[in-house]
Amino acid sequence: MTQIYLRVALDTPLDTSFDYRWPEHEAGADPGADSGADPAVMPQVGQLVALPFGRQEVVGMILEILTETDVPQAKLRDVLAVRHDLPPLNEEWLALCQFAAEYYQRPLGEVALPALPKNLKAIKTVSLQRAMKKLDKLPQQTYVSPSDEPILNAEQQAAVDAVVQSQGFAPHLLFGVTGSGKTEVYLQTAARILAQSADAQVLILVPEINLTPQLEAHIRARFPGLMLSTLHSGMAEGERLLHWLAAHTGRARIILGTRLAMLASLPKLKLLIVDEEHDPSYKQQEGLRYSARDLAVWRGWQLSIPVLLGSATPSLESWQGAQTSRYRLLELRERAVKLAVLPVIKLINLEREKPSEGLTQRLIASIKLRLEKGEQSLLFLNRRGYAPVLACDACGWISNCTRCTAHLVLHKGDHRLRCHHCGLEQRIPHSCPTCGNIDLQPLGRGTQRLEESLAAIFPEARVFRIDADSTRLKGSAAAAFERVHAGEVDILIGTQMVAKGHDFKHLTLVAALNPDAALFSQDYRASERLFAQLMQVAGRAGRAAQKEGGNLSEVLVQTRYPDHPLYHALMAHNYPDFAKDLLDERQQAHMPPFMYQALLRAEAKELETAIAFLKEAATCTEHQGIMINDPIPMTMTRVANVDRAQLLVESVSRPALQAFVKAWIADLRAMKSRVKWSVEIDPVDI
Ligand code: ADP
Ligand code: ZN
Ligand code: ZN
Repeated sequence: MTQIYLRVALDTPLDTSFDYRWPEHEAGADPGADSGADPAVMPQVGQLVALPFGRQEVVGMILEILTETDVPQAKLRDVLAVRHDLPPLNEEWLALCQFAAEYYQRPLGEVALPALPKNLKAIKTVSLQRAMKKLDKLPQQTYVSPSDEPILNAEQQAAVDAVVQSQGFAPHLLFGVTGSGKTEVYLQTAARILAQSADAQVLILVPEINLTPQLEAHIRARFPGLMLSTLHSGMAEGERLLHWLAAHTGRARIILGTRLAMLASLPKLKLLIVDEEHDPSYKQQEGLRYSARDLAVWRGWQLSIPVLLGSATPSLESWQGAQTSRYRLLELRERAVKLAVLPVIKLINLEREKPSEGLTQRLIASIKLRLEKGEQSLLFLNRRGYAPVLACDACGWISNCTRCTAHLVLHKGDHRLRCHHCGLEQRIPHSCPTCGNIDLQPLGRGTQRLEESLAAIFPEARVFRIDADSTRLKGSAAAAFERVHAGEVDILIGTQMVAKGHDFKHLTLVAALNPDAALFSQDYRASERLFAQLMQVAGRAGRAAQKEGGNLSEVLVQTRYPDHPLYHALMAHNYPDFAKDLLDERQQAHMPPFMYQALLRAEAKELETAIAFLKEAATCTEHQGIMINDPIPMTMTRVANVDRAQLLVESVSRPALQAFVKAWIADLRAMKSRVKWSVEIDPVDI
């Protein structure tokens, strides 16, 4: 019998694959009783294997089966066990990981293995068998055509038809105003694709599952006969394995997940849907810094299937794609519910109408009108805590974090000063640490302070706050939104958590308290994000039919800059013009999507060390057609006692940039610097 070798990927930063010897047939040898390994059964590509690695045992993935290897025999080690009870990951999935690895410039093993549930990667595991048994016990699925589908309006119908009738790879951008019924388009498109073949799978990506329990409920109600898998980071490991397996074995027909679901194994995938495709959370911000939206489009191309990206405020990248006909544009111009109209958006000039406790008289009067009619108001303030900083008037002391370039935020409820970046916490000091003054003042306003002010102004109203602090416990966010839907809340205060996707039926007033800061941010994407956020939050108002005698739905934006073009586009509900202006600006300034970028980040105890490393990095690799900028400290330079700096490289050619970064990373590795560094492709936070 010829000797067989396995080439495997391992989860290590070493950018190489590893060869192992497949132990020659030994009757009765059972290297891993729990893993069900049987050396008599040939291993296959895409299977998991337990291996010795250094002094450890690890789990890797088989990439190739070889009859020869360059590794000297003396150095070769034997595979310990093959995980035969898991059906192999298929070639397409491996190709997806390979693409992501190449595009984002990471070793394949660092893409493929972290994409799998932890329980699969344990050396000894019984949970796999247990999960398989559980799945086997589930009843057979039958597709029942949904009986309670609402009749689509003409634009919705055209959108569904376009996607279902498309041939091969077909990326679509569904541009629909808030409340235009994009969800219904997703559901009915999915229904048609699921009905086409008995094993078709549909992947629906959402920015945040816990924030949108409504969607999951809708899917379950619509497809009672089919198995739905959910995949997101908040799941317990056992649960995660079960849902992942359901998808991997093809049992789950609908997979609803956050960005990580993009790397799930979906052997029968026939349709990809990305809801709120502009949302920044599709971009992973550590490790493999991938964009799930971009991978979705690649995956659609790979499998020759339709992709549906939906948003009321598409990312400029996708919008540009639609303008240049790379994507097919599908539009929903009106709200789906009859008599539900887009809210009127008005600006309140803070220079003229002075607010008290952050609230202008006009806003207070508008809230009062809602209270009188039993309608809800939503106040949007994207800053949690009581006040962003505590200060001493006498000596100028302010509550800075000792470990970060940031203030400690005042949290009044539990008497804490807290850093939102490194987690540092202290009790609120009774007096100024520098001069002893006991009259310390909170500066600025967070959601907790707003809650306090509103409760004082409207003692009879039910004021309710939803932010990361109020929903820390598992399940509490869903419960909080439930209260709002049930009408148990009069005034809702929230951060961007409340802006996303919720279909609040009783809401007729939305107010943005002070969104101006983002207008002047150094980050060139800040205005794109602000527009999307305000459009989103404004879109929560007036989603139900206008009630007789009720208030017209309105959105009030308190601002110091009422002449700013962003606010004018917002008032006109005019995303296309806003996008056109931004795209023109970006083109003139040679910025994405007209330019491709990569960012080298460096972290060190001292800023100089990081900068020195980046300076060397700027010259260590030959380059043509690549623009290398100067190294600069990051805006928030210090986080948790580490200084951070960055170096931006750009090119008008994506292939040129890719080739450069590949060579560059090799050179950076060879520098053997002690500085911690990483490269991000298509960075979003610069
Ligand atoms: P979007 O996601 O575009 O903001 P939704 O999908 O949440 O909008 O839809 C808004 C509302 O319109 C929901 O209450 C939904 O049930 C309703 N709706 C959607 N399509 C239709 C339709 N064709 N007929 C009647 N109501 C619809
Ligand atoms: Zn002081
Ligand atoms: Zn800190």
